[in-house]
Amino acid sequence: MGRPEYPKDMREFRRKFSSDAACLDYWIQCRWPEGFVCPKCSGKSAALLSTRPVFKCRGCRHQTYVMAGTVMHRSHLPLQEWFWAAYLVATHTPGIRAHQLQRQLGISSDTTAWHLLHRLRKAMVSDTRTQLKGLIEADETFIGGPEKGKRGRGAGNKSLVVGGVEVLVYKDKEGKRRERAGRLRLALIPDASEDSLGPFLSRNVEPGSRIRTDGWKGYSETALSEFIHHVRIVGSPQRAHKRFPHIHKVFGNLKTWLNGTHHGVLPKYLPSYLDEFVFRFNRRNTPMAAFQTLLGISAQKSPLPLAELGSGG
Ligand SMILES: [Zn+2]
Repeated sequence: MGRPEYPKDMREFRRKFSSDAACLDYWIQCRWPEGFVCPKCSGKSAALLSTRPVFKCRGCRHQTYVMAGTVMHRSHLPLQEWFWAAYLVATHTPGIRAHQLQRQLGISSDTTAWHLLHRLRKAMVSDTRTQLKGLIEADETFIGGPEKGKRGRGAGNKSLVVGGVEVLVYKDKEGKRRERAGRLRLALIPDASEDSLGPFLSRNVEPGSRIRTDGWKGYSETALSEFIHHVRIVGSPQRAHKRFPHIHKVFGNLKTWLNGTHHGVLPKYLPSYLDEFVFRFNRRNTPMAAFQTLLGISAQKSPLPLAELGSGG
C-alpha cells in the first residue's frame, strides 16, 4: 500500500481533508502504510470502532488507540483542526502566530490555538535527523539585543545562537562557480567558547566535513579536531556578510522572523522557535511534504503533558 500521496496545493488539501473521517483515513494510512498490525498479537485483522478512533483486534480483542503516542493523543480537538494547523504551520512561509491560527481555523479560544501551535512546534524535532556534511559555514549571532556584544561572555538579556549551514557548490549555465545554501542547524549556546562550539559541531556535522569559520578563538583545533577547518579572516562586522553570506542570510531571516512575526521571543521559548525555523528552512522547497513530515514526525513523538506548556507564546 505504501505512504499516501500528500496534497499538492490548497484546493487539493481542502478536498482531501474535508471531514474528520477523511483525516482519520489519511492518518491511518500514514501510520500503518503496510496496513494495521496488532501490537499485542501481530494479527492483521482488526475493526475500527465507529464511536472512537480505536482498532479492535479480531484475534486477541486488544484495542489500539489510533492516536496513541502522538501529539494528538487525548486531544479533544477534532482531527481536522490538527490537520489544518499542521498544514498552516508547515506551509505558512513567514511562520504563524497563535492568533493567526485561531482566526484561520475559526477556533474560539486563543489558549487552544496556542496549545496546538506549541505541540506542533515540539513535533518538529526529528530524533533521527542526519548530520550536515560537505562544506559547512558556521558562525554565531546574538538574538534579542543590539548586534554589538562581547563574544564568549555573558551578554545580559541577549541570547547567543550558533548556526551551521551546508554550502552547495555548483556551476551555472555559463560554467561559473556558484554557491547556495543546503540544510541548516541552529542551537542556543551559553557562550562562544570552544567548549560550546565544539559539541555543537560534533553533534550536527559529519566527521571529515569541511567547516568554514572566521578567526574566532572558539573555533580552536580542539573544537574542530574531527573536521577540516577553513578559516576566513574577517576585517570588520560588515565584511562578515560577504565572507559568510549563507549563514548571515540565515541569521538575517531568523531575526526578521522573530522580531516581525513574534515581536521578540522570551529566551526560554527560543529553542523551540529555532527548531521551527530550521524545520521550515530545511523543507523550504517542499512545503507540502513538510506537512506530511510533520504528521510523520508527530507519530513518533510522545504526548506532551499540559503542565509543561506554561502560557503565553
Ligand atoms: Zn491482537
